[in-house]
Amino acid sequence: MLPLDKELETALFHRLDAKKCVVCGALFTPGSNRAKYCPECAGRVLYSNILLKLYLKSLKNGGRLQLDEDIPYTAQMIATITRQQIGTVERAL
Ligand SMILES: [Zn+2]
Repeated sequence: MLPLDKELETALFHRLDAKKCVVCGALFTPGSNRAKYCPECAGRVLYSNILLKLYLKSLKNGGRLQLDEDIPYTAQMIATITRQQIGTVERAL
């Protein structure tokens, strides 16, 4: 049997479950049916979603990232707001 290169092998054997990343176009095998991004882009998209939510929050407070006049957000509060793990939020900040 002839050796197959990696891309051809992916195309032939994983055709049914391989997906194309909507950001970079790379083929990847999704962990779930809802996956739209390759693992590399998924991390970036997750972080920029957190950042966007924080920007929206800060708009309500004159551009400051605070719950009210005196209380700044903590990583735990941001995790609750964005429904992410606290470790993810801490890495994103
Ligand atoms: Zn990608």
